[in-house]
Amino acid sequence: MIANRTPSITGQTGRPELLLIGGSLLTVIAMVCIVTFLLIRERASAQDAATRRATTIAQLIDADVLRTVELYDLTLQGLIAAAQRDELQNVSPQIRHLALFDRSTTARFKGDILLLDKHGEVIADSSRIEPKPGNFADRDYFLAHAFNRDMGMFISRPFKTRCDCDEADQWRISFSRRIASQTGEFLGVAVASLKLDYFDDLFKSLDIGTDSTLNIINSDGVLLAQKPYLQSDSVGKSFGNRPNVIRILNDRDGSGSFTSTSSMDEQRRLYTYSRVGNLPLTVMVALSSAEVFGTWRRTALLISGATGVLCMGLLWLTWLLARELRRRQRAERELAQLAATDDLTGVANRRMLDQTLRHEWFRAQRSGQPLSVMMIDADHFKAFNDRHGHQAGDQALKTLARVIGENVRRPADLVARYGGEEFSVILAETDSAGAQQIAEQIRQAVENLPWVDGAERAMTVSIGIATWTSASEMTLEQLLFTADKALYQAKEGGRNRVVVSV
Ligand code: GH3
Ligand code: MG
Ligand code: MG
Repeated sequence: MIANRTPSITGQTGRPELLLIGGSLLTVIAMVCIVTFLLIRERASAQDAATRRATTIAQLIDADVLRTVELYDLTLQGLIAAAQRDELQNVSPQIRHLALFDRSTTARFKGDILLLDKHGEVIADSSRIEPKPGNFADRDYFLAHAFNRDMGMFISRPFKTRCDCDEADQWRISFSRRIASQTGEFLGVAVASLKLDYFDDLFKSLDIGTDSTLNIINSDGVLLAQKPYLQSDSVGKSFGNRPNVIRILNDRDGSGSFTSTSSMDEQRRLYTYSRVGNLPLTVMVALSSAEVFGTWRRTALLISGATGVLCMGLLWLTWLLARELRRRQRAERELAQLAATDDLTGVANRRMLDQTLRHEWFRAQRSGQPLSVMMIDADHFKAFNDRHGHQAGDQALKTLARVIGENVRRPADLVARYGGEEFSVILAETDSAGAQQIAEQIRQAVENLPWVDGAERAMTVSIGIATWTSASEMTLEQLLFTADKALYQAKEGGRNRVVVSV
């Protein structure tokens, strides 16, 4: 392109495809944010529902255990009250047995109820009239009561009975109370045992799913019961050093819930726990995360997948549309360029010249800066054509356009083909002296061109210049007419010269 100002049609410079891509990206980001927010909320509500379910289960267990322990406590208190009645010393063993164990619980899973003297010797046994000799002074409950006046009811660690009977293998815990004289002197212990099968039976009725567990631990973290058992010999073992159990036992509230990994089988679980009344027992419901979040996970997968496909689809469509838009824009630009360009020489055409001239005219009117117009006409071009042929003539016109363009360097200037072998140059913000200088350069450059071989004389141009200044009262038509007139004068004056209209 020779013309300094590239012929272009105004209003073609926007980038709508960038707007489209930006809008689509924002839509995709918004969609992803909304879906993520909804999924997080759904997950939280799945966790809430599971926690509520676990709390309900824990409360059911709580209530049953509390009732059972209360029964045992009443039994012990009845036994102690009866044992301290003096009149029972003088009755037959049968009557004494009846009186002592009159208020004993008949609950299922009940083990032996014993009365121990201050040395730990059995002095009464609920299962037989003549107690079987035995000493339990080494049991934790006996020691606890012997050395602590204010123990209240003591719940022992799990143990197995010492008898050689069928039940020797069964785990039990015992509930015990101190027997004291009026003055508080230690007289012995009343103790009742409970088979831990009680908890298994209690858990049986509760449905918690396959990978979840129900647990009862005491205040030292010793496991009393579990459903289903994660390890075969875990009852009676202390888990007090496991992080989850430490967290539960250290909770002053005694109830709460959290998600963590089980140290027993490395499964993630939602732990909900609740202390049984004021007792040193805690119910722990550990629901499997896979079960709690299973439905949510499937929904999340489906929704994320669908959102992903939608977003990809949207981005793909956007890309297609943007590519089409770019293509159309390019085509429009090319069309506009073609519409503004002269085919032969590549400089601006007459249409572009008129448009730019009007534009620069109004700009000059506003700014008050001078505006010069140059009319350039090849001398004796008809004769040139006749001598060298039309093709050489076309080539000469192209060269002429290039030479003019090379001498008109400012971006706001425009070189245009006016028609035939005539060119126009618009020189914005240029006074007549400046225009004359440029015109002279053009004239000389053309004169010095190495023309077609065998040419009798060099190619020359005549140039007419007219300049609008704020002092003049010319219209645009008068400016063009004046430039034409100056060109005519240059021809008249002998050609190959520059005439500036004054
Ligand atoms: P003058 O010095 O008075 O301008 O003489 P001239 O012969 O240049 O002027 P005239 O207007 O008589 O002739 C113009 C010639 O320019 C006529 C035509 O042969 C030639 N011409 C116009 N357009 C083209 C073109 O596109 N290609 C070629 N090869 N010649 C052209
Ligand atoms: Mg002419
Ligand atoms: Mg001519």
